[in-house]
Amino acid sequence: MSSNFSSSGQQKAARWHPPSYDIRVETIPIPEIQHPDDVIVKVKLAALCGSDLHIYRGTGGVDKLHTCGHEFIGEVVAVGSSYGKEAAGRPALYSKLKVGDKVVSPFTSNCGECHVCRLGYTARCPKGALFGSPALEGGQAQYVRVPTAGGTLYNLSDSSTWSSALPKEVKEQALTGLSDSSLLMLADILPTGVFAATQAINHPKVAPVITGRPWPLCFNEAGTIDTGNEVSFTDEDKILTVAIVGLGPVGVCAAISLLDTLATRNIPFRIVAIDPLESRREKMKVVYDTLSTSLERVVARKEKVKDCTSGVGATAVLEVVGNNSALTLSYELVRAFGVIVSVGVHGDPPFPLVGRQLYNKNVSLDFGRCPARAMFPPAFDLLVKRQDIFGTVGQPANLIDRIVSLDDAAESYRAFDKGEVGKTIFDPWM
Ligand SMILES: [Zn+2]
Ligand SMILES: [Zn+2]
Repeated sequence: MSSNFSSSGQQKAARWHPPSYDIRVETIPIPEIQHPDDVIVKVKLAALCGSDLHIYRGTGGVDKLHTCGHEFIGEVVAVGSSYGKEAAGRPALYSKLKVGDKVVSPFTSNCGECHVCRLGYTARCPKGALFGSPALEGGQAQYVRVPTAGGTLYNLSDSSTWSSALPKEVKEQALTGLSDSSLLMLADILPTGVFAATQAINHPKVAPVITGRPWPLCFNEAGTIDTGNEVSFTDEDKILTVAIVGLGPVGVCAAISLLDTLATRNIPFRIVAIDPLESRREKMKVVYDTLSTSLERVVARKEKVKDCTSGVGATAVLEVVGNNSALTLSYELVRAFGVIVSVGVHGDPPFPLVGRQLYNKNVSLDFGRCPARAMFPPAFDLLVKRQDIFGTVGQPANLIDRIVSLDDAAESYRAFDKGEVGKTIFDPWM
């Protein structure tokens, strides 16, 4: 497969300079194919993300100059020699992906061909790397090189390449009808929110509440064993209480995913959404109103969970911040035999909890990076379903505040770091 694209030119890129708080928009060479599995993507839009701030502030544990950004959507302009021929046993994109295809990338690359990838744990592929880190140049640029792209990318020009619970026509229509800024949320924030919600709802500690049967009978299918003299559940026992700590874009995505799943499965619930920033709490309230569910939802500054659970605490806590105070609060809010699902990037040692605290409350900790590639199908379905929230930019219920030129990268990082602006998208061609 060949292309008229020439990679001998120069491009614009937002680059991080050590040690901290130093973003410069610079002219650097357009990336080239380095390996037969590589693809070069012309970036249409790239987003600024809360986790970019760890590196920005110099707390990300890196010290090497690199191009920033791990959320991008664009068009394939060059493919390596692995593409366009019968690639038996390899991911389908190696035979199907071509120049001109519209693609969105998860925030980490992955091979799609190893044991880890086959299980769906794509965020921890041994061959993978995080875009916008010293290991892999990022997407806040006009062009980006995607390694093992046949295992990494989603081809938005060919809807047959991923599974979906949506009818085929709806899926097809979505690909032409959805805006690029909306589809860009599939790079990180939406899959990560869906991941946090999925981890909580499917955690064994949550099973008694969801099944209405006590531990450990909750793991047997209803009616498959003789029950004894167990006391039957009250209605309150069957309410799933989830606290969400941190209402940035990922926290809001997690809330939307939770509400959608719980409503669909008819599980009684109560969600307490917590953030110290008033603007974020206001956004959450507008999102709640837009979702128009009649079930209980509370937005709070801090303590509220104990009040509405008679002092018991939350069955599950989603910690969507990634710092020690958020984790300490999560521990306070979780009930005994509860689970804390943490998807924020934790940097600062030491770890704020000790073994005795976890033992004394029988707390499960579920930590780590979202396998965004594996989470893409449910995230895509949710994106299509909830265009009232994900569809436009700058409205009170929207997650994206503004789209600006890449030339404004330094000022955007500064304002984003200070909490003066919300989710910001760069157009590198503006
Ligand atoms: Zn991100
Ligand atoms: Zn792999």
